[in-house]
Amino acid sequence: MVSFTKRCTFKVDIEYRKIVSNEIIVYDIELSEFIHRKVSVLKIQHKEPLLNENDISTIYNAFSNANITDSTIRAEHIHAIKSNTTAERTNPRSTCSICKKPVSDKVKSYCLSNKKFNGKIYCYEHQKAVF
Ligand SMILES: [Zn+2]
Repeated sequence: MVSFTKRCTFKVDIEYRKIVSNEIIVYDIELSEFIHRKVSVLKIQHKEPLLNENDISTIYNAFSNANITDSTIRAEHIHAIKSNTTAERTNPRSTCSICKKPVSDKVKSYCLSNKKFNGKIYCYEHQKAVF
């Protein structure tokens, strides 16, 4: 279950909004409601708890260790995300020249550094299809 602020607009498959799904996307204001609903559904489906104390502790530690608590590093992280998003929006060459599908930065730099593509960007499929 992943929670986003209400400032976001979800453009995802409707399956991700269903309580029966194992991957759910919710707004922050819905989070506790969704957790309670999910727990109720799981209690009906499973007689025994799905996780023991040890599992819960492992998962808790994984999240706890991944959380960025240093405010400087957190600010750098947010800045990096924002500059990536801006670059994608303003750079019209980040899509395949043929099918117009968006490509990753890795694919983009591979194509641009490869002379046979003549400065054009192609998705994996069209890199093979054209050459
Ligand atoms: Zn393509």
